[in-house]
Amino acid sequence: MSKKILVFAETREGNVRKVSYECLSAAHRIAEGGEIVAAVFDSNPSQQVTSLAQYGASQVYVVSNNQLDPYTAEAYTQAFTQLLSAVQPDVILIGHTALGKDLAPRVAARLGLGLVSDVTDISVDDGEVVFTRPIYAGKAFQKKKSVENTILATIRPNNIPMQEADVHRMANQVDFAADIRDLKTTIKEIVRKAANGVDLAEAKVVVSGGRGVKSAEGFDPLRELAEVLGGAVGASRGACDAEYCDYSLQIGQTGKVVTPDLYIACGISGAIQHVAGMSNAKVIVAINKDPEAPIFKIADYGIVGDLFEVIPLLTEEFKNM
Ligand code: FAD
Repeated sequence: MSKKILVFAETREGNVRKVSYECLSAAHRIAEGGEIVAAVFDSNPSQQVTSLAQYGASQVYVVSNNQLDPYTAEAYTQAFTQLLSAVQPDVILIGHTALGKDLAPRVAARLGLGLVSDVTDISVDDGEVVFTRPIYAGKAFQKKKSVENTILATIRPNNIPMQEADVHRMANQVDFAADIRDLKTTIKEIVRKAANGVDLAEAKVVVSGGRGVKSAEGFDPLRELAEVLGGAVGASRGACDAEYCDYSLQIGQTGKVVTPDLYIACGISGAIQHVAGMSNAKVIVAINKDPEAPIFKIADYGIVGDLFEVIPLLTEEFKNM
């Protein structure tokens, strides 16, 4: 049975985030000839409307209200619930990002909808949408079907491949003025930490350091390797607790969940809580001087050695490729 799917297009600095295009690919898998629409909350959306159309949205709702910038859960929830009531989609897809994790449960609760979070795969079985999501810190996968007519899901970045853009595809732009009132919070100031390089959650390559890097400076060779590979730097909680790096880099059960094509774990023992955040990486390389380190049990390639000797050699090799 054909379905109407609505994708929430998250933007950052004016650009649609990659995970939102992945949501559009997910929508294509389950639409069964139905309609795929997108919603963007941005005051200057022309470029976004074009790119969302190229990745498969036939209609783009441009939701506007001057209280939507910067993001607040309250304002977005009001605007999004109004939009959903007007559009009446069967399935709503949102990226499993910090914003998505904040917004989706509020919207689901407000409208009394079911929510499947952290979806890594999506398909249709006998007309019903099947959502696959990891459980028990990634040790098993659960398949869920909705018993309701409308369902909301958050899609984990880097799991559902983006489809090719079609530059000839166009979409209707529909302006939607949200009515936002009685906000209990306003943002006075945003203090950003300096962030550079590739977004960790969406990176194709992650070079991650643990307590084995021994100091903040110990991360330098990892940064260099990540730069050569066009990747991002991550960390274990051990490294964050030791103040070698910022907690924003932490990967694991209580940190970020990443699914890169290549994950290089350097001086990380492989505790279950760390593995929960990276075990779905397509290829895992572990560098550890202890041949008994548990990380080797899940690694596709293991290098037993001192990371301060191994990483510069790898960096040189990759530079020459
Ligand atoms: P260690 O376990 O100390 O390992 C360091 C490794 O470096 C060792 O294997 C050692 O052989 C190797 N090494 C040392 N020197 C070198 C060298 N020169 N070259 C190569 N190898 C070297 N952890 C997370 O990472 N993420 C989480 O989200 C997280 N959440 C948690 C939640 C809870 C509720 C709890 C209780 C714990 C959580 N932890 C988490 C902590 C987790 O249990 C581990 O303590 C942590 O992952 C260990 O970090 P590590 O591997 O860097 O350090």
